Amino acid sequence: MKLKIAEFPRNIIAGHDVLHNIRGLCDALPFNKKITIIAGEKTRKIAGDQVCGYLDGYDIRICTTKEVSSENIEYALSEVRDFNTGLIIAVGGGSKIDMAKVISEKCSLPFISIPTSASHDGIASNRASLKTLEGPVSKKTSSPMGIIADTSVIFKSPYRLLASGCADVVSNLTALKDWKFATRLRNEEFSGTAYTLSKYAAESIAENAEHIGRRLETSVWFAIKPIIVSGLSMCIADSSRPTSGAEHMISHYIDREYPGRALHGEQCGVASILTMYLHGGDWKMIRNVLQKIGAPTTARELKLDRDEIIDAMIHAHEIRTDRFTILGTEGISKDAAQTAAEETGVI
Ligand SMILES: [Zn+2]
Repeated sequence: MKLKIAEFPRNIIAGHDVLHNIRGLCDALPFNKKITIIAGEKTRKIAGDQVCGYLDGYDIRICTTKEVSSENIEYALSEVRDFNTGLIIAVGGGSKIDMAKVISEKCSLPFISIPTSASHDGIASNRASLKTLEGPVSKKTSSPMGIIADTSVIFKSPYRLLASGCADVVSNLTALKDWKFATRLRNEEFSGTAYTLSKYAAESIAENAEHIGRRLETSVWFAIKPIIVSGLSMCIADSSRPTSGAEHMISHYIDREYPGRALHGEQCGVASILTMYLHGGDWKMIRNVLQKIGAPTTARELKLDRDEIIDAMIHAHEIRTDRFTILGTEGISKDAAQTAAEETGVI
């Protein structure tokens, strides 16, 4: 008996000056006309107030939050429930969208995602990153019902965030190698559709790396589609497997042991150079693409010293023992980690 259930965003609108489409999306939905907008202090000014302006006639509550911690989740939950909210709109970067995913799942409410930056590939996915004492934890949630990605809004965010989002998608290339590896060695469930979408997203960033590196609004255009498609591959697989392998485990280890040094996508990009080396694949191509985009390619750019990156490579396998990757169940030796980091120029 085979059963497959995939939940996708219903409307994806991307382009220049497209925020006004929020009105049509809301008008087409049957709900009680009560909307809670989840935003940050800054993102409210960047796009939140403008979104409110397009929703004349709706009853709107703005809930400003910070990172996705259990305290902030409780606060946002009470705001959404007290207001008898019928629809959630998230306006912000990764943490605001993740917050909306968690709240939407807990309250069984639809939500629309309006990213003001694109620093990782979670915009369209059904997974959220939660901040815990043990570091960030990935949790299955709802996927957004609609996405409005306005390139003129995202263009105003620091370019470093977009470069990080692109690096996160480029790192799919090693996540996919790990997936195939686990399928061969562990007979792990595999989805050719999710694999193809994730690969397409990474190759699309690689092909357009030079355009993206020009740091124009068109850079956002070239980047945003693959970033969204990468998230869709997770919806199809109903798992982060197509986009998250050993390189993500290294990044999560860095978040836990050396927090606040660099962005998620930046860490995954550098780690992807290393794990592609371990796979015996074309790590030079990954490094070249990251350089063209302007994303980090060395430990130093991640504000990590030699011992710290080696430590992350040696211990990353402990992060998720259920996810089989090139790091194996025992991890790699210090000598092997050192050789990989030196040969690839990461240290
Ligand atoms: Zn990622």
